Amino acid sequence: MKKLARIALGHTPTPIEPLPALSAALGGPSLFVKRDDLTGLAFGGNKTRKLEYLAAEARAHNAGMLITAGAVQSNHCRQTAAAARRLGLDCTLVLVGKPTLHPEANTYLDMLFNAEIIWVKPEKRDLRLKEVFAAKHAANRRPFLIPYGGSSPTGAAAYSYAMPELAKQKLAPDWIVFASSSGGTQAGLVVGAAATESRTKILGISVDEPAKILADRVASLATETAALLGVENRFKAKDIRVNADYLGGGYAEMGRPEQEAIQLFARHEGLLLDPVYTGRAAAGLVDLIRKGFFKKKDTVLFWHTGGTPALFADKYRTALLD
Ligand SMILES: *Cc1c(COP(=O)(O)O)cnc(C)c1O
Repeated sequence: MKKLARIALGHTPTPIEPLPALSAALGGPSLFVKRDDLTGLAFGGNKTRKLEYLAAEARAHNAGMLITAGAVQSNHCRQTAAAARRLGLDCTLVLVGKPTLHPEANTYLDMLFNAEIIWVKPEKRDLRLKEVFAAKHAANRRPFLIPYGGSSPTGAAAYSYAMPELAKQKLAPDWIVFASSSGGTQAGLVVGAAATESRTKILGISVDEPAKILADRVASLATETAALLGVENRFKAKDIRVNADYLGGGYAEMGRPEQEAIQLFARHEGLLLDPVYTGRAAAGLVDLIRKGFFKKKDTVLFWHTGGTPALFADKYRTALLD
């Protein structure tokens, strides 16, 4: 794979740990976890890897500030605000939600980084983002737009490089399972697997999109990422493994399955998941194990994508102690 410019912001390789107590409790395959919740940069998560390459792209464009958008509890926005400060830049976040006098969890951290926050209604997000970009540009601030979820080919490439990192760690899992949403993580892993001729099956548990939409998005992003890295593969939606059976009450609505999965990981392994992404992906993993989807002799790597600061938002905190 062609090497892209990178600015180091985090800690890689991230550790891999076995989950023996959880594997035994579920009576299923051997479970391991790849700790991308420990990538660093303001509590870590999968956006750290992406931002290392996006930051280098921003610097190459002589950016004067970063702009991005997301949900109220966006991990991507929190980490982009932190990355901006590491680069000595300002950051503007377009957040879907209402101004609050009681900022919690990720929003609180956005404010601690002194990011400028522009609150929008969901249907206005893309329009406001364009307007904000145009206004900063007109004011000579040299804004650089970090894509939604960091999921451009440049951001996704970070996860292509994570496959050789995994190979060096001497674990050749039968499956990799993780939370998939804007698709950059999955697209990157799929390209990395193709480039390293890995036989590991890469299964994204959809957090918020129907299977067809997510598989199409991942396939086209993977094809673009492969082109960027000089990997001669094209990807079709049918090549992409997506499971969208665990959408529950919708994006960021934690239900019983997520709650149970978070408690299982916490109580068997002392490991924290998050209520929006990894909790949902783990709920899917647990259900698939109970249904006998995996073989008992399989090795399954749960790729932890971070998000744990959201555990401290009131909405989730109270429900998790139920
Ligand atoms: C953004 C995010 C994801 C989804 O990753 P994509 O690359 O957008 O699919 C998963 N987990 C956490 C914790 C995230 O913040």
